[in-house]
Amino acid sequence: MIIDDQFYDVIIVGTGAGGGTLTRKLAEAGKKILVLEQGEFTEKESSELVEVEVFKKEDYHAEEQWYDLDDEPFQPQTSYCVGGNTKIYSGALLRLRERDFEQVQHQDGISPEWGLKYQDFEPYYTEAEQLYRAHGKAGDDPTEPSRSKDYPLAPVERAPQIQTIRDRFAQYGLHPAYLPIGIGDEGRTDSEDTGVSPAIKAGKDVTLKTSAKVVSLHTNPAGTEVKGVEAEVKGQSYLFMGHIVVLSCGAINSAALLLRSANEKHPQGLANSSDLVGRNLMKHLMTVILQQSPQPNSGLFQRTLYVNDFYWGDKDFPYPMGHIQDSGGILQDVIFSESPPLLSVAAKLMPGFGLKQLAKRSIGWWLQTEDLPEPHNRVYFKGEKLHLDYTPNNLEAHDRLLYRWQEVLKATDKKSRGIHPHGSTPTQVVAHQCGTCRFGEDSQSSVLDLDCRTHDLDNLYVVDSSFFPSSAAVSPALTVIANALRVGDRLIERLA
Ligand SMILES: Cc1cc2nc3c(=O)[nH]c(=O)nc-3n(C[C@H](O)[C@H](O)[C@H](O)COP(=O)(O)OP(=O)(O)OC[C@H]3O[C@@H](n4cnc5c(N)ncnc54)[C@H](O)[C@@H]3O)c2cc1C
Repeated sequence: MIIDDQFYDVIIVGTGAGGGTLTRKLAEAGKKILVLEQGEFTEKESSELVEVEVFKKEDYHAEEQWYDLDDEPFQPQTSYCVGGNTKIYSGALLRLRERDFEQVQHQDGISPEWGLKYQDFEPYYTEAEQLYRAHGKAGDDPTEPSRSKDYPLAPVERAPQIQTIRDRFAQYGLHPAYLPIGIGDEGRTDSEDTGVSPAIKAGKDVTLKTSAKVVSLHTNPAGTEVKGVEAEVKGQSYLFMGHIVVLSCGAINSAALLLRSANEKHPQGLANSSDLVGRNLMKHLMTVILQQSPQPNSGLFQRTLYVNDFYWGDKDFPYPMGHIQDSGGILQDVIFSESPPLLSVAAKLMPGFGLKQLAKRSIGWWLQTEDLPEPHNRVYFKGEKLHLDYTPNNLEAHDRLLYRWQEVLKATDKKSRGIHPHGSTPTQVVAHQCGTCRFGEDSQSSVLDLDCRTHDLDNLYVVDSSFFPSSAAVSPALTVIANALRVGDRLIERLA
């Protein structure tokens, strides 16, 4: 093993929404940082893909096998590269709602209260929207939380067909709103272009090692601090050292790394005295509805519309149902990545249509419902095999959303037809994974304290989506980014 002769202020593992953002924040404060990322640099996928061939692409899925509840292997839909999953995400940047931070009764159980409230996150949401260049417009959605500043940039103009649909929804009595999207000079903003690369280009004290997979964390003999970070860098074993170690490997991989680093003082895995590391995995219930319409569209446009009228329920269902957003032009990449066989399945239902033709006659709708934290939904190892036991819950709320949305589509465009090609989200779809190291004040019922420092080890932090106590129903990235900025402030104070 090669022992690196440098000593860093902070070692950050992973460069996604959490790690990439934190890198920039700490670099600007002049800290000496080592960033370890198991992937390589990759091109951002164009948001204007025209080749339907891309439906078959698996390039963005990790070349790994994980195992499900039935011990069946699967390839997880997650991306290992500089920028992590923000390299393939859709750039929808939504704040959680104020009530998402409170205890909420759902049809299928309780969504727990967060130890911090919306007002604690608000300044960081603002900072995150500035950094990631959020285009949006406040005021149309009654569920929208209060804001100290308007969006930094005007909303993206809607495609004519989406504008027509929006008007029909409004006539029907809904409150369609502009979907906030992060867009920079080169397309969607991501945590490489916004986080890691600017820090390096500005000549800050940042060392980035790619193809550097962290395999274990080593503690001091008392087990109170991480002393060494062991990584395989381009096939060679290294040991790195620093004052503070921050994991941001994504909720599943951060939990896996903690569990894999078990030692004499931490026999159940690092930071796991509560036995909660890896548990309470959430990943949203997600369904796509394809709205077939006789009017053609370009097939190439950004996501620009969301509807939250059923976020907290409906007239005959007093429980949260979820969030709906348009998928953008159906020829775009994100549908392909999140649900590759989508159009192929739709094509079977509509013989006689080519895929491209079908895409130009379709509007996709993403429906997302909050799933509830349950200890048996978890990440763990059986020998060397990484297991994901996940049984979806809160299904009735999601079904209600699905049927209600089909009703809305029918009522607002009699000529259109809604198809939903697959049932509940398969285990391999882990795009919105969160919750595996929840934060809180009590070390018995949480893994991290409110600064996202592990209760058990003084210099170990986690800043990816692991910290979420509940998954809410809006997309998670802006909250991960805002939290990384918040934890960044705590680390700067500590290192001062
Ligand atoms: C197709 C798709 C579309 C999405 N669209 C949206 C959207 O529009 N809006 C939204 O809010 N969210 C969206 N998401 C979710 C969003 O991308 C994630 O919530 C966010 O990226 C999570 O950030 P993170 O820091 O937790 O982890 P990630 O972004 O997953 O980053 C983790 C990083 O850690 C690295 N890593 C893992 N293990 C190790 C290790 N052992 N050693 C070294 N490095 C390691 C990985 O390679 C990766 O780069 C989407 C996700 C997907 C997949």
